[in-house]
Amino acid sequence: MKAEILCVGTELLLGDIVNTNAQVIAQGLASIGVNVFHQSVVGDNDARLKTALRDALEQCDCVITTGGLGPTYDDLTKETAAGLFGRKMVLDEPSLRRIEAFFARIGRPMTDNNRKQAMMPEGAQILPNDNGTAPGLILEQNGKRLVMLPGPPREMRPMFERQVLPVLAALTGKTLVSRTVHIFGVGESAVEDRLRSRMLALQNPTLAPYAKDGEVLLRVTASAESRAAAGRLIDPVVDEICGQFGEAVYGVDAGSLQAAVVRALNEKHLVLASAESCTGGLISKRITEIPGSSAVFHCGICSYANEIKEKLLGVRHETLERYGAVSEQTAAEMAAGVRALSGADLAVSTTGIAGPGGGSAEKPVGLVYVGVSSKNFSTVRRLTLGRGYGEEREYIRTVAASNALFLALQAIRQADPKQP
Ligand code: ATP
Repeated sequence: MKAEILCVGTELLLGDIVNTNAQVIAQGLASIGVNVFHQSVVGDNDARLKTALRDALEQCDCVITTGGLGPTYDDLTKETAAGLFGRKMVLDEPSLRRIEAFFARIGRPMTDNNRKQAMMPEGAQILPNDNGTAPGLILEQNGKRLVMLPGPPREMRPMFERQVLPVLAALTGKTLVSRTVHIFGVGESAVEDRLRSRMLALQNPTLAPYAKDGEVLLRVTASAESRAAAGRLIDPVVDEICGQFGEAVYGVDAGSLQAAVVRALNEKHLVLASAESCTGGLISKRITEIPGSSAVFHCGICSYANEIKEKLLGVRHETLERYGAVSEQTAAEMAAGVRALSGADLAVSTTGIAGPGGGSAEKPVGLVYVGVSSKNFSTVRRLTLGRGYGEEREYIRTVAASNALFLALQAIRQADPKQP
């Protein structure tokens, strides 16, 4: 089955809101093996909506729209669809009663235009809305299906998942399954270069890279009769990628770097601490957002001032004087210091220049040192994260924290496990 997602709303076109509905629907359709061939957005305009709907129905077996089902004059998706399918608009009594009951429940008077929401194209299958007033609907004609859902995500999502997905799943015998290989420290173009011929050759499973903040995710997706059969297609490709990228792979379906770190610490019964300067607590934040991190994370010290680096972490005054706060030596002493202070098995540190000010020819914006200290593995890495774009403080901080987490992961991999 070929599907298109068509989201209606001028706010979407203007970029005032993000099209999260399309994402939810695309993921849901993928999970039941429906191929999404196209996604589009159209404003609240009758003529353009009609063209977009007609084109979508010509090209696909199933078109799913969201938005434009509301009570106001510019909510015209249903009327446009009824025109295209040659159906009259008729009052759907059960929908009207549900809308009246909804207003009674929230204690607000129902205005006349709300009756419009109970007007439906003749012969449509009605999808009751448990979280709002606008019902959804499914129209079927000549083997084509048009599914129309309300715009507000909290109304759309449950309607889609509970009332639409089961109908569509019954029509497809297939399942789509994806696994994601997480790679850190290899640029997106380098990953693509190494995999280009493989990506072109593979059809089932397919291989798609996604890059974000220094990470590359490789999504391997197979379509098959069952989850197990899809898994059999995916596994050899995942193994091949893991072999190819070796140490740079930090997990498969790992969630995030911090989740991988917490999992690895748990597996070896080790405890981590951090001392952060330019990342200002981002490492602590990211680790502690993972449930259960309290068992493996001892403390995170945000040591912005040199005085605190000295007093709390034991960074030597002469180190700071001679090499500066942003230096390999300071990063090493910060990591060793917080490890000693906390008694943790491993510790990471960051010190750098996040900008936009504070850079020099010798120490430019984006220069960051990340350190790790453990019994078997202590090192400092020098990063140059500045890309010269100007607005990159958050990028530098985020990628510096990610590098520290990745370094922690490498140290955990080398560490001996402790007894639980
Ligand atoms: P209503 O009954 O609220 O008028 P509707 O079906 O007419 O519902 P719209 O008026 O198009 O829907 O959108 C209502 C709100 O839902 C928007 O203001 C926006 O906040 C949200 N919304 C609409 N479409 C999307 C989308 N594709 N992704 C995320 N949010 C959306």
